[in-house]
Amino acid sequence: MDIIFHATGGQDQPWLDVLAKEMPQAKIRVWREGDSAHADYAIVWKPPAAMLQGRTGLKAIFNLGAGVDAILQLGDALPQGVPVVRLDDAGMGIQMAEYVSHAVLRYFRRLDSYDILRSQKQWRFLKPFDKSEFSVGILGMGVLGGRVLEALQHFGFPLHGWSRTQKQMAGVTCHSGADGLDAFLQASRVLVCMLPLTDDTIGILNKHSLSRLPRGAYLINVARGAHLVEADLLALLQQEHIAGATLDVFSEEPLPPKHPFWHESRISITPHISALTLRDDSARQIAEKIQAMQQGQQISGVVDRTKGY
Ligand code: NDP
Repeated sequence: MDIIFHATGGQDQPWLDVLAKEMPQAKIRVWREGDSAHADYAIVWKPPAAMLQGRTGLKAIFNLGAGVDAILQLGDALPQGVPVVRLDDAGMGIQMAEYVSHAVLRYFRRLDSYDILRSQKQWRFLKPFDKSEFSVGILGMGVLGGRVLEALQHFGFPLHGWSRTQKQMAGVTCHSGADGLDAFLQASRVLVCMLPLTDDTIGILNKHSLSRLPRGAYLINVARGAHLVEADLLALLQQEHIAGATLDVFSEEPLPPKHPFWHESRISITPHISALTLRDDSARQIAEKIQAMQQGQQISGVVDRTKGY
């Protein structure tokens, strides 16, 4: 079995090592410009168009991430009829649960404000927020959003979720579709974006939607930078409609040194680390899926290109 590989970040060898360990029978090579030799599978992160163009003989293209926006952007260069397979959790769910729980609790327990008071050497009591009025709303109830909702249930926050198709989840008020968005937003004191980036969701965190949140709401974006209209967030912070934000993703990454977010103390910034692709877990999952495909079985995580996720 022949596998071509491409990832960004110059980490080829560690990947080749774990993939070889999981699939000792496979011949895995790093794809180089001009390589059009046979391959059964491709394993990629942000591949160049030339790697995949015309490769209709591939049995599947495995994406080294949960989000497939970068690969679907290849458009016609992506061979028709070849399944694109995203990572299903592969250790990212728990990382998202840790990151989002931390951000929610930091705001709810007012630890961000206590950090500021501490920097001013002030020993001062702040009125706690009332948990019953502190609803957390998760945009996207998929593999990762579902895991985060599960984690937040342990803290007793009223929870809301929004998805494309209607869901049922114990302890969560579920909303769906464009018609359900307004009620969801009005109910969310903390809004967490965990959506895939698609034609329908690009720019979804904008002046209109964020204004529907209750005054003093908090935003957490761990999905993609292009979900947020950044100038709209700054305007709503200025008007104190939004109290603060934790952002892991940005329209331009790395966030440019002159970006106004760096100067806004109410915005916590991390460099796209909320859920990292874990090499061992991902290689194991891909190897298991390849084995299942070789035996003619169905696999999970196949992307619906018409939906964009
Ligand atoms: P899933 O595909 O499992 O879940 C996506 C969820 O979003 C589903 O519940 C889906 O609804 C919902 N959704 C999609 N489109 C719409 C829409 N138009 N309206 C309403 N709901 C919609 O994805 P994952 O949970 O695995 O991942 C989510 C995203 O997280 C990824 O696409 C990626 O961009 C981001 N991510 C970020 C990382 C980081 O480090 N910052 C790391 C990993 C992922 P339905 O269930 O009805 O289909």
